[in-house]
Amino acid sequence: MASQPKRPKPAAPDDPASQHGPKLDERYTCFKLMLAESAIHRWGIYALENIPARRKIIEYTGERISRRETKRRDSRKLHYLFTLDKYWTIDGAIGGSGAEYINHSCEPNVRATVLKGHILYYSIRTIRKGEELTIDYNFPKDVERVECKCGTRVCRGTINLK
Ligand SMILES: [Zn+2]
Repeated sequence: MASQPKRPKPAAPDDPASQHGPKLDERYTCFKLMLAESAIHRWGIYALENIPARRKIIEYTGERISRRETKRRDSRKLHYLFTLDKYWTIDGAIGGSGAEYINHSCEPNVRATVLKGHILYYSIRTIRKGEELTIDYNFPKDVERVECKCGTRVCRGTINLK
């Protein structure tokens, strides 16, 4: 975003965490959360307190990029892209609140709502202290198929839509 100071270019552009370490920006969180290693994939975000259903938990922030730039960054091995609308994408790798570390699950406890250009993550149900936050990435069917390791009983085996 234009008002944010520019970060220096990460040494390994594939992994934004290599520059500053994965972090959670408390300016965008509404509950006590923690970033920690995840059994699902690399890092994950955990609730440090009980979160009631239908409450705002965190905003997904990052650099706002165009469709053309999204295509370019999409080819990275690791990416943190959230499609805002037909034209804009938010890249959580730059200026991300930490919401970009929320892993995919086929039975998620979090859902995203786009409100006036902001991506807000809400609890679907009560989330207990210690639970990992998860969201359904809903990757389209026509992009590269990514295997899912969420381990839930409804797992569709891929983080893409079937
Ligand atoms: Zn799954």
